[in-house]
Amino acid sequence: MMKLVDPYGRTIDYLRISITDRCNLDCLYCAPLGGRKRRSHAEILSYEEILRITNAAVHSGISKIRITGGEPLQRKGMVRLCRMLADIDGIESLAMTSNGILLKEFAAPLFEAGVRRVNISLDTLKPERFRNITGKDLLSQVFEGIEAAEKVGMNPIKINTVVMRGINDDEIEDLAGLTLEKPYHVRFIELMPTQGYTKEKHRALFVPISEMIHRINMIENLQLIDKDPSFGPATLYSFPGAPGKVGFIAPLSRHFCETCNRLRLTADGKLRACLFSEKEIDIKGFLRKGASMQALSDLIKHAARSKPQQHHLNDIAPKIPSNRTMRAIGG
Ligand code: SAM
Repeated sequence: MMKLVDPYGRTIDYLRISITDRCNLDCLYCAPLGGRKRRSHAEILSYEEILRITNAAVHSGISKIRITGGEPLQRKGMVRLCRMLADIDGIESLAMTSNGILLKEFAAPLFEAGVRRVNISLDTLKPERFRNITGKDLLSQVFEGIEAAEKVGMNPIKINTVVMRGINDDEIEDLAGLTLEKPYHVRFIELMPTQGYTKEKHRALFVPISEMIHRINMIENLQLIDKDPSFGPATLYSFPGAPGKVGFIAPLSRHFCETCNRLRLTADGKLRACLFSEKEIDIKGFLRKGASMQALSDLIKHAARSKPQQHHLNDIAPKIPSNRTMRAIGG
């Protein structure tokens, strides 16, 4: 198996594929200005194109795939896509990030197709607040989706919570408390600024990880768990005797660029080497001009080699990338 190493010695083995930029929710932090520009069908990569790019990526050294969006469960035929991706020789892990709303229906077929892990976004346990954050009254569907994923054997189930001051920061303890009963990884994420944020708006909502940990420590002692590659960028803790884990992901206050192993493929076919860099490579254009598998593979290697050493955001003075919403990149 070929190894893809960037100029800073990082092994790049992980590709996040956004299969749609459409979403059945409208989370206030994901596309703060609405982000409703809909791409036409022709602009979005077809499943055959995604498969071709993935094959080239695997040929270049990628072995872990995550399907994201928009909301990936919304795209017609995505179970078929997952099955074909899982069948590619060289893919060791196929996971998905979803808001969970359609997961009750799709957990079993996805598992059967080869998706063994799912990350579910959940920012609140309160129905009314869920509606305020997402625009929809669908919190109970998310819980049903989480339960369905657990029942079919997806493991671990990771719950991702973006913490925002004055919006859901008073629920950190309750969300972390889910791990006392369930084997979930509940992971708190710092709010990232993307298109639509001003520095002031971001600063007003931003809660640093140090503050989140402090708040949970006040109710019970969290025990640090030794780092494992399966944790991704999260630092994990657990409450004594709890089946689940509590994680913290600090893209801003303690960025983890030195261990970044990922590339991103946007729904409209651009390779993005860093979430916070506006630079993109038009792999779709290349593909549609008839590029060979070798040429696609070379382009992917080129994208990996062009990864910046680190992003230039920090919690004091972020330079906000303005060309895409999070929904369009896939998180
Ligand atoms: N629809 C799916 C979902 O809800 O998980 C996948 C796409 S969503 C863009 C992927 C992740 O990005 C979600 O966990 C979401 O919370 C996160 N996200 C979106 N905007 C964010 C922001 N400004 N800061 C931090 N995380 C963000």
